[in-house]
Amino acid sequence: MSAQIIDGKKIAEEIKGEVKNQAKKLRETKGIIPGLAFILVGENPASQVYVRSKGKACDEMGFYTVTERRSSDISEKELLGMIDEFNRDTKIHGILVQMPLPKHMSEEKVIEAIDPKKDVDGFHPINVGKLVIGEEALRPCTPAGVQELLLRSGNDPAGKHVVIVGRSNIVGKPVANILLQKQAGANAVVTVAHTGAKNLVPFTKAADILIAAIGKAEIVRGEMLKKGVVVIDVGINRIDDSSAKNGYRLVGDVHFESAAKVAKAITPVPGGVGPMTIAMLMKNTLKAAMA
Ligand code: NDP
Repeated sequence: MSAQIIDGKKIAEEIKGEVKNQAKKLRETKGIIPGLAFILVGENPASQVYVRSKGKACDEMGFYTVTERRSSDISEKELLGMIDEFNRDTKIHGILVQMPLPKHMSEEKVIEAIDPKKDVDGFHPINVGKLVIGEEALRPCTPAGVQELLLRSGNDPAGKHVVIVGRSNIVGKPVANILLQKQAGANAVVTVAHTGAKNLVPFTKAADILIAAIGKAEIVRGEMLKKGVVVIDVGINRIDDSSAKNGYRLVGDVHFESAAKVAKAITPVPGGVGPMTIAMLMKNTLKAAMA
């Protein structure tokens, strides 16, 4: 069997194209330009790369952006003050505080300070609660991207047994909550596995759709999967590779070669879920601006 490769890059471009068109219409009909504020605290190189690429995507969409960079020694009070200003700024529809924050700050307190209507990351407890009870809300970008990948690749989760490995608040739990809703594009039977499982195999073998959000390189292998499964690999892991220019390469939580032999469809790493996160952030910012 040769698996369909789900091209996240292409699907993300498709979504960004739609967002760009809708943003143009919004500007022309209502004079509204979606605005996104970035707050970056500290010098974490990965965070700097993320903020840069999110900002670049906003430019492509024709969004208005503001980026506030602060050193890691700013006080929590100062950060909360910045958030408060953006909450009141009518040109700003979305606020993104890049995580992780320095240790002396409470991430919970910072997230809770963001106006839930501007919480384009979808992490505010109000939005989390609305997601759980199936109400309209801003949903977290990577989990919403997983759902879009399934739908746009022709793998509707409705009626399928979705097994998610991983229960983090940013990926596993929200993916589970999105896919189990009694709603179009969801309505799956969902199982969530984690380190509490003594043996993962009975769970992974039972999946029609397997979603790996584990953070461990290539631990799900083809032998652990059912023939015809759809595999969405959220994991991004660096492994040493002396043949690569920078000495490493990126792999998922799923061993791609062995899984592709049994799967009906599979996402690659990189180029699967990764590009979807920014596309969904653009979509959330547009949604917040239209609300
Ligand atoms: P976390 O470390 O927060 O959570 C990992 C989850 O996997 C936990 O629930 C943990 O279980 C479970 N787990 C770990 N090891 C095992 C195991 N051996 N067997 C079963 N379950 C296990 O990670 P995240 O959810 O934040 O991220 C997961 C992966 O997704 C990472 O590789 C990350 O880089 C990637 N990621 C990619 C994104 C993107 O594409 N844009 C965005 C966000 C994340 P327990 O709860 O019991 O500890």
